[in-house]
Formats: sequence, C-alpha cells, structure tokens
Amino acid sequence: MSEYNREQWQSFTAVKAAIEKMTEEELAALRFAVEPYLAFRRQLHAFHEKYFTLHCAGRCFETGLSACCGFESIFTFFADQVATYLVSDQEARDRIFHALLRPYRSDRCVYLGPKGCVWSVPPISCAFFYCEALKEEVFAAHPEAASVWQRLREAEKAFTYPDRPVLFDTLEALFCEKGVDSPHMYFHKSPGLLRIKKEAGLVAGSVNRRR
Ligand code: SF4
Repeated sequence: MSEYNREQWQSFTAVKAAIEKMTEEELAALRFAVEPYLAFRRQLHAFHEKYFTLHCAGRCFETGLSACCGFESIFTFFADQVATYLVSDQEARDRIFHALLRPYRSDRCVYLGPKGCVWSVPPISCAFFYCEALKEEVFAAHPEAASVWQRLREAEKAFTYPDRPVLFDTLEALFCEKGVDSPHMYFHKSPGLLRIKKEAGLVAGSVNRRR
C-alpha cells in the first residue's frame, strides 16, 4: 500500500471506529452539525449538474481522460472524510476501503471508480475544480453562472476558512477529543491554517482571543 493510501486508510479507519463508538445522541448531534455543509454541497452539486455535467461527462469521463481525477495523491480534509463516511451506506463505505486496497497507479486518483468518484460527497477541493478552458467556455455561454460560482466560493469559506469558527476545524476538534489522530487534520496541523486561526484569536496564545 502506498503512503498516501495508508494515510487515507488510517483516517477512514479512525473515523469508522469513532463513529461506531458514538451514542445515538452523539451521532444525531454530529449529523446536525454536518447538515449545513451537506446542504451547501447539494447547492454546489446542483450548480455542477446545471452547467458542467454534460461537458465533463462527454469530454473527459467517457473518453477516459478524467483529467481532474487523473492525479495521484489528491488533497483531502479530515472533515470531508467524516462527512462522506457519515452519509454513506455500507456499500459506499466498503467502496472507499476497497479502492484503497487497489494497486497503486500514478496516472489517476485511487478513488476514481468505473462510475466516477467513490466518495458519496467528493472532497471539497475536487468539487471546486474545473479546467480553466471549460470554465471560460461555460461562463461565456452562461454569464449568470460566473456569479453563482463566485457566491459558492464565498459560501465555502464559512466551512473551511478558519478566520472564524468553521465546521472543518470543529469536526477535527470533536474527533481529537475522542482520541482520533489523522494526518489530514490540517486545521490542527497545517502551519498556514494554524496561523490564520491564531490571527483570528482561535488558538491558545492568540492576541485577539475571541470571547
Ligand atoms: S477524490 Fe474523487 S473527485 Fe477527487 S480526484 Fe479522486 S476520484 Fe476524482
């Protein structure tokens, strides 16, 4: 197993174990906390369906090019791993673990299956990725799509940009409290994100600590 797959396996295994230990109340609270993000992801998916699906499917997926999923070691946040695990049924969860056992390929993402991404809710960085050329073409044909796109990008920050309390940070903290550790807990490990949190007064030792 490659280092990337091993780390992904470690995260998903830890998420699985922690979720299995949760009480009904804890699980309900977790689902409640994640729901606004899932609602946002449904909006983003609707945008994709309306403006991009036909282009992406015909030009890239069906031709086998899959340019956006054609990279190994795609970046993932721990919170997205939690979200996708939470909403997945057993079959979808198994697909994730099975994908990680597949032989390593340098020309495509380990999670790319015959029907597309095996994550029920693909990583946020993937969901926002479009080829520049296609984006230009779609936005030229549908000028309103460009402003919707900008609004969605802004809306994403409420979940992922830690200059305020955000879900992605909170979820990591919640699982940390349960003894979970993951290399993908960037809101607790990435110097860049920790700096933003510190400047916002969201970590110990901050000057502008919020009350
Ligand atoms: S995680 Fe899913 S959407 Fe992202 S690159 Fe891999 S297969 Fe594609």
